[in-house]
Amino acid sequence: MTNQTDNDPSAGDPRFDRQVRFAPLGTLGQTKLSNSHALLVGAGALGGVLAQNLVRAGVGKLTIVDRDIVELSNLPRQVLFEERHALEGTPKVEAAQESLQRIGGPTQLFVHSAHFDALNAAEFSEGVDLVLDGTDNMSTRYLINDLCVEAGIPWVYGGVVGSGGLVLAVVPERGACFRCVFPEPPAAGTLPTCDSAGVILPAVSAVASLQAGQALRLLAGDDTDRFESALLEIDVWHGDLRRIRAPRHSDCPCCGQRLFDFLHNPPGRDPVVLCGRNAVQLPASAGRPDLKALSNRLEGQVNDLAMLGAMLRFKDGEHRFTVFADGRALIEGTDDPDRARALYDRLLA
Ligand SMILES: [Zn+2]
Repeated sequence: MTNQTDNDPSAGDPRFDRQVRFAPLGTLGQTKLSNSHALLVGAGALGGVLAQNLVRAGVGKLTIVDRDIVELSNLPRQVLFEERHALEGTPKVEAAQESLQRIGGPTQLFVHSAHFDALNAAEFSEGVDLVLDGTDNMSTRYLINDLCVEAGIPWVYGGVVGSGGLVLAVVPERGACFRCVFPEPPAAGTLPTCDSAGVILPAVSAVASLQAGQALRLLAGDDTDRFESALLEIDVWHGDLRRIRAPRHSDCPCCGQRLFDFLHNPPGRDPVVLCGRNAVQLPASAGRPDLKALSNRLEGQVNDLAMLGAMLRFKDGEHRFTVFADGRALIEGTDDPDRARALYDRLLA
């Protein structure tokens, strides 16, 4: 007769056998994971590795928000995408969903092709147990920090450029928040980006794996009451790994003074220059566009005009336009927001 205990992995799904044998998780941790809901903001480089980790680990629900479409230059480091997605200009969340569904398992996926901002952040994060940063821009991270500290939701920051990056797990009330470590957003253009310094997949994988480890521990670990916040720094080219103590600051505008300006008083919806893309995203103007009518109007005026699912794509000279159903427009072939706005107004306003 076998002596079955709560820790006996044979009592559970054989798929998770090796994971359940990892003592800090165990069957209890696996059950917690399967009952948890994570929100992933950004489905590109970090986001792809993070999503794979969470789906393969058996997290119960995963919501993914991303505004972008797949491009050829994504393929060296964005592991959920294939060449055909780039050739078809598939929205990243759709390509991600397709790849993640092929893995199988119990995870329910909820995907949204949208720009995560202060107006929709609360809606997307409702009921989630953890938020994961798969973005490539600082302003969204300050927004996520405000959102999570105010609501008491843990979140894990990850930033990657070149051959290295940084990770910080934020557990509100228990340790440093993002603004305790980085009090104010850097001035535009002062930090290296994947645009200026490039980025390689090993760095992406390492940073996202550190994030995923912290995420699994926060969702399901048996020792989260002993959690100590620290900034983790890794470089895969030079082989460096550092753990930097991150104390909480009582005068921190976010977790100390509880001023959540990035969430409640955000700057206007400005155009966003997309890192490494030579592209600008313009925010939605009033109302949802009638893409069919727009398509009819542009017929003969532009090249390669095509409706692809819920978006309209075309080329005008060297510029490629993608107009999304929610009214956002992506203009490739320029990194100048004013130029992008002028191009948009000439054809679409
Ligand atoms: Zn703080």
